[in-house]
Amino acid sequence: MAPRTVLLNPGPVTLSDRVRAALTRGDWCHREPEFAELTRALNASLAAVYPEMREACAAVLLAGSGTAAVEGMLATFAPLKRRTLVVANGVYGERMARMLAAHGRPHQVVKHDWLAAPDLGLIERTIEELADVSHLAVVHHETTTGRLNDLVALGSLCRRRGIKLLLDAVSSFGAEAIDAEAWNVAALAATANKCLHGVPGLSFVIGHRDAWAATAGSVGSVYLDLRNYFSAQHGDGFSPFTQPVQVAFALQEALAEFAEQGGWQARQRTYRSRAQRIHAALIESGVTTLLPEADYSSVLWSYRLPAGRSYPELHDRLKAEGFVIYAGQGRLGDEIFRIAHMGDITAEELNRLCAILPEAVSR
Ligand SMILES: *Cc1c(COP(=O)(O)O)cnc(C)c1O
Repeated sequence: MAPRTVLLNPGPVTLSDRVRAALTRGDWCHREPEFAELTRALNASLAAVYPEMREACAAVLLAGSGTAAVEGMLATFAPLKRRTLVVANGVYGERMARMLAAHGRPHQVVKHDWLAAPDLGLIERTIEELADVSHLAVVHHETTTGRLNDLVALGSLCRRRGIKLLLDAVSSFGAEAIDAEAWNVAALAATANKCLHGVPGLSFVIGHRDAWAATAGSVGSVYLDLRNYFSAQHGDGFSPFTQPVQVAFALQEALAEFAEQGGWQARQRTYRSRAQRIHAALIESGVTTLLPEADYSSVLWSYRLPAGRSYPELHDRLKAEGFVIYAGQGRLGDEIFRIAHMGDITAEELNRLCAILPEAVSR
């Protein structure tokens, strides 16, 4: 049997055999009590990935990729009359600004260069000047570059100023520290198919109970009105619209595996050790990182393409060996390649990757 393909792109990820097997558990109707029970169990498990969140927060599940969860979060919680400040330093921060514009929410973008960290001084001055900022929207791990935005600093600014945080945690949930209480998180959005190692098709939003309880004006969307999901899923357990039943089976299995493996701290350690191994193989071959090493998440690192090596060449060379890497986005498309560390990757596969990388990056 030919070796399986290993995905080193930022989701979807290589599935473990047990998660893949869960897809064939059976054909269920999403309006039968057994699926309501599964929905309640999944929401409870998701809110307990960070055990400190369990009491104060509650999750809802929706069909759609991570973007659906982020847009649902903003449509449901970004206010109609007060302003949301968007901190953008990559594709996903800029996407949140587009969503707020699409939903007609007052907002201001603090736009950064994609290689820059959030400028705390500028953010605080902007909040002071505008005077009507009630929420701040930011990406935790900006997958564009691999930067883990410093939420300890930004979150404590939000807490100190009473500004509610709306967090895109799509590529950090399950592998990086999240302190919802200290960062004044009103809601965060994430997905089944990144650090949780589930199948694409389900995403979720975890909101503070006060945020769910608040009454709001028009959400401007039928499908993405998450309070509708909240009252349904935390009422009789049913969802307003059809849920991907088999994807839910896989998420349940992925969450069981996640807990058995030691939760988010263990996952962070696993990703970090993969990152160090891959980094060592690349550095040895003269490849350099896009960002300073200390700025990276555990989840994904970005590297400058070596001189004379195009992305398609490198990609195709590695794909022929069974490894799928990821291109840069936008202006970084011709400059970088990205390697994510998520998913079910064996020691043997990691060894094989590190053995072929030096040859693959040189001509
Ligand atoms: C993957 C990702 C998303 C969502 O992308 P989808 O293609 O909708 O899954 C949103 N934000 C960040 C930071 C991501 O990495």
